[in-house]
Amino acid sequence: MTISGKAALITGAASGIGRAIAEVFAGAGARVCIADISIDAAQQAAAQIAATYDVKACAVEMDVSDESQVSAGFDAMAAQLGSVDILVSNAGIQIISPLVDLKYEDWKRLMAIHADGAFLTTRAAMRKMIAQGNGGAVIYMGSVHSHQASPLKAPYVTAKHGLLGLAKVVAKEGAEHRIRANVICPGFVRTPLVDKQIPEQARTLGITEAEVVKNVMLKETVDGEFTTAHDVAQTALFLAGFDTAALTGQSITVSHGWHMQ
Ligand code: NAD
Repeated sequence: MTISGKAALITGAASGIGRAIAEVFAGAGARVCIADISIDAAQQAAAQIAATYDVKACAVEMDVSDESQVSAGFDAMAAQLGSVDILVSNAGIQIISPLVDLKYEDWKRLMAIHADGAFLTTRAAMRKMIAQGNGGAVIYMGSVHSHQASPLKAPYVTAKHGLLGLAKVVAKEGAEHRIRANVICPGFVRTPLVDKQIPEQARTLGITEAEVVKNVMLKETVDGEFTTAHDVAQTALFLAGFDTAALTGQSITVSHGWHMQ
């Protein structure tokens, strides 16, 4: 069970969890495509990864909610890296707001990135994988919020729950093509996405930032620890390399015991 020699497209890989996954995959001998809306950061990441791990790495500009950019990005990746064997649908944002105050445009913006983006990248990846005939792995970046709710996160919780359904359909439709689909559900990881919401939650809940970390984010963990991007990347490596349909349509939670299935 190895991903050495495989080609992986990781969305949102210019930063945070996606970046860590790209590094771990490259360290395991995979070719990686950094797909991100922020092309400068994506190019920098690809150059650093290629130099550090001595593998082919490329960057593509991709807003995952834009159908033509997704399609062009997969074509560019296939041209540069030779194949599409693994998709990690990871790009995401967070919007903190009570539901009654949430603007419809903000609901639609979050759903476009998380739900439409997962669909568009899955469709593009599956088309390539089916044409290649070598199977493939699709991994969705879910969240503990794929299984349980928190206040102030209505669109995020809705979209993350939805990824479980999408993965199950891809597991069923992909089986005859040896395409597997699974979801990783991390607890809180200190990335820019989380750093931004600490002061936002403190303001909305009327508590200090330290209280947000201790009493909101890490309260239900077994040890008061953040999950790390490396923890999540190791789980992605395991799922990407697990090459039978014994493990498909599943979700794995990586959260220091915050959520137990
Ligand atoms: P991050 O903000 O560090 O990175 C997100 C990346 O996505 C950035 O590089 C950004 O440019 C990119 N991006 C944003 N919109 C995009 C779009 N429309 N198209 C393409 N790229 C886009 O965030 P992160 O914490 O690494 O989050 C990555 C994923 O992990 C998200 O799906 C998030 O919901 C999920 N997640 C994060 C945590 C956490 O605690 N950080 C926990 C559970 C799940």
